[in-house]
Amino acid sequence: MKRYSVFAVAREAARYHTGWERAWRKAEPKKKYDVIIIGGGGHGLATAYHLGKRFGIKNVAILEKGWLGGGNTGRNTTIIRSNYLQDPSAALYEKSRSLYETMSQDLNYNVMFSPRGVIMLAQTHHEVRGYQRTAHANALQGVKTEWISPTRVKDLVPIMNIAGPRYPVLGGLWQARGGTARHDAVAWGYARACSDMGMDVIQQCEVTAVRREGGKVVGVDTTKGAIDCDKLGIVVAGNSGHVAGLAGFRLPIESVALQALVSEPIKPCMDVVVMANTVHGYLSQSDKGEMVIGGGTDGYNNYTQRGSFHHIEETVRALIETFPMLSRLKMLRQWGGIVDVTGDRSPILSKTPVENVFINCGWGTGGFKATPGSGWAMAELIAKGHGPLTDAFGLERFREGRFIDESVAAGVAH
Ligand SMILES: Cc1cc2nc3c(=O)[nH]c(=O)nc-3n(C[C@H](O)[C@H](O)[C@H](O)COP(=O)(O)OP(=O)(O)OC[C@H]3O[C@@H](n4cnc5c(N)ncnc54)[C@H](O)[C@@H]3O)c2cc1C
Repeated sequence: MKRYSVFAVAREAARYHTGWERAWRKAEPKKKYDVIIIGGGGHGLATAYHLGKRFGIKNVAILEKGWLGGGNTGRNTTIIRSNYLQDPSAALYEKSRSLYETMSQDLNYNVMFSPRGVIMLAQTHHEVRGYQRTAHANALQGVKTEWISPTRVKDLVPIMNIAGPRYPVLGGLWQARGGTARHDAVAWGYARACSDMGMDVIQQCEVTAVRREGGKVVGVDTTKGAIDCDKLGIVVAGNSGHVAGLAGFRLPIESVALQALVSEPIKPCMDVVVMANTVHGYLSQSDKGEMVIGGGTDGYNNYTQRGSFHHIEETVRALIETFPMLSRLKMLRQWGGIVDVTGDRSPILSKTPVENVFINCGWGTGGFKATPGSGWAMAELIAKGHGPLTDAFGLERFREGRFIDESVAAGVAH
């Protein structure tokens, strides 16, 4: 595949852009693969990429029932940070954040990583204690974060009202190298790199059954026919319970809709990401000028990939005390995705009761930031059967009571 570069852009400009090739090949399924990955979201594609890059396993197919990134990958609010509380989470999310730093160069694809900084606002005394504790934990884990005063928060975000009557800003947990990236580009960049390694990226191909023999996986049935495989990775986010059911096991997971919206575009007014967990909203400004605003999950389990007005109204109403200027903006679009939430709000990267079937799910409302790290770790799990970043995240932790409780860092926050 031809490399993207400034020279390529100049060459194509001179010939009216007639020479660009497809970013990835249109593939039809072969009869058999060493590894099949179900799910063409960021995590599935990153897993395939690292299987090829780190372990030389390239006879791989990625099967996607819709279009690449059409699940949560293309629906999130793109916040990237690694300021989690527990050691296994901090290790995984920090690995991921560090991979974002070089992702555009590694993939030769501009994913527009923007380490503009993320503030998690403390608006209750309970949050002050919680975030100060996280800052101390992060210092021990080697994750660079700091506790900042309300004045510093105001310096960073002049449009904020820090003296709100109900929830004044009492400080914040600041991660200067957190930020955002272009979510579709992450999926497309990985797909291009996978295709370049000879892997088959197959869209419009839904897995409808998982075939097993003697407790071991032998292949899958799909809307494009039966395909055999030696190993299978299930990386389907909100559809995890359903696809695990096809493979014959159950997951401790709930699927719920999570919603977001963007405002009309306005001039640049905020150059960091802000999360306000007490009032339950988070926002950043996109390169186009839209205020990107995320809210909470639905209060009941469902598989609806759509928004609903009452939720959006709640989120905006809550944010207006801290960001009064939002009351003057018109809403441009709203949408929803299905997120997969575990009891301890930590992901599952694990072997399963079916031999050679591996599962990656449970990222809930906050897995975009984990995309490259999850792919890195999951590839190791599939190739070697274990790995330092995945060992703590196995399914057995729910049976053994070894929870990785991130409900404060990840319950609704991103
Ligand atoms: C509104 C919203 C805001 C969010 N904001 C953030 C944020 O700011 N920061 C953050 O870190 N995270 C955020 N998240 C969470 C994040 O988007 C997800 O955790 C992450 O994108 C999950 O990626 P994935 O690749 O596992 O899943 P997906 O991108 O959902 O990919 C799974 C794919 O599997 C496919 N699939 C399902 N079943 C089958 C089948 N049977 N056969 C074939 N294919 C199948 C689906 O079509 C889908 O494309 C947000 C999520 C939402 C919905």
